[in-house]
Amino acid sequence: MLEKNLARTKIIATLGPSCGREARMKEMVRAGVDAFRFNMSHGDEATRREWIELVKSARAAVKRPVSMICDLRGPRIRLGKWRGELVLEKGTEVVLKSGKSMGRDGAIPVDYAALAKDLRVGHRILLRDGRAELKVTHKKGGAIRCTVTRPAVLCSNQGVNLPDSKVSAPPLSTKDRKDLRFAVEMEMDWVALSFVRSAADIETLRNALKRLGSKMPIIAKIEHPEAVRNLSSILQCSDAVMVARGDLAVEMGHEVVPTIQKNIVRKSIESSTPVIVATQMLESMMEAPQPTRAEVSDVANAVVDGVDAVMLSGETAIGEHSLEVCRIMHRIVDRTESGLFADSWRLRPGLNPGGTTPSSIAMATVNAAVYASHQAGAKMILAFTESGRTAALVASYRTRLPIVSLTSREKTYHRMALLWGVRPGLIPTPRSNKSRNRDAAKLLRNRSYLKPKELLVALTGSFQVSGSTRTMQLMRLEDLG
Ligand code: PEP
Repeated sequence: MLEKNLARTKIIATLGPSCGREARMKEMVRAGVDAFRFNMSHGDEATRREWIELVKSARAAVKRPVSMICDLRGPRIRLGKWRGELVLEKGTEVVLKSGKSMGRDGAIPVDYAALAKDLRVGHRILLRDGRAELKVTHKKGGAIRCTVTRPAVLCSNQGVNLPDSKVSAPPLSTKDRKDLRFAVEMEMDWVALSFVRSAADIETLRNALKRLGSKMPIIAKIEHPEAVRNLSSILQCSDAVMVARGDLAVEMGHEVVPTIQKNIVRKSIESSTPVIVATQMLESMMEAPQPTRAEVSDVANAVVDGVDAVMLSGETAIGEHSLEVCRIMHRIVDRTESGLFADSWRLRPGLNPGGTTPSSIAMATVNAAVYASHQAGAKMILAFTESGRTAALVASYRTRLPIVSLTSREKTYHRMALLWGVRPGLIPTPRSNKSRNRDAAKLLRNRSYLKPKELLVALTGSFQVSGSTRTMQLMRLEDLG
């Protein structure tokens, strides 16, 4: 009976000091967490190594697939270091300079070498998640003179956003490349890249992975205006996208985020690209034991829109209720899904999966399978998959039927935990179609997914060849093995 009552929308929890313990991680997985995010902007390698082992032991103990996401810092700009706080008062003048720490001249250090090159007079500089705003009035040598247009108190190391500038930093820093080697070595399941600007950034990451001998799937974080403009080409070359609403709101303004979010979600589903909505989903639970009604609506809205996963950030990493917030998130997801479109066979009938991508044999086969499952009254879609791609294609239809996706690759098994409605299963490496079908039938019987005589639609390709799905078959469990 394992996994029978799982919600279709998956939950990602960010790891941090509030939850980095074995017992807590197990409880979080039991509460419905499907993936843990490792934010590489914080913490040290020894702690991450320890947490990875804890996730591996939690998912083995709970017997559920759980993804590990390595979230690279990317070309994110930060302030340098100084002692104490710095008060910026409205209307005053300040000077910024590239550097790791504050020098004798008192200029505010920014840990980004090309700062003066990328900024022009009139450009805005946002500090501390947009709480402070400066406007560039003058540039001389490396010194950037600015007026404070929105005051705030600053501390070392806080984030810097340059919403009007074309940031020329490479997509991967030396630290990112080191973190990537670590992620590959530790066999993490997904890698997310912050501040993606174009498809070329994703290609750079893909090539870096190739050089490390890895096919780890890539999540493009959409948080920069350039990425919003280049969404179509980014969707074509990414394995998933994340609406990273924190920086997106700082860069583009809070009021445009809801429509941008809905647009990204719709286009992602149409191109069969998994999509995650992130940041401040249940933010008040960093301290409070209950979320606000607005937060509950925010999560429910993302579920109604059909996102693959909703993400918790500070709520689980440093919040006071790291377990309860997962339980509440799961409850909102579950109740929203059960109230959705009660009469429809598709939970998102307006969607047109594959509509914006060039047709492929796999897509045509999946399309036939999903419609046939409805017409024939099947109770399940069964997909055999090597990379998880077939499962993502089926998921993009947001069909009411359970999607059971079987693989013999452990990496694929855990990666699929992130996909909407997909219930991954691990089977032994098949020796033949017959042995594969027999193992699949055994797993389905163990999990009591089907009653005798109930129909399923099976999707198959050449086994051990990724992207080869070309057969769909209506059958009963007894026919499978
Ligand atoms: C965001 O900005 O919304 C986000 C998810 O990125 P990070 O948590 O890395 O700031």
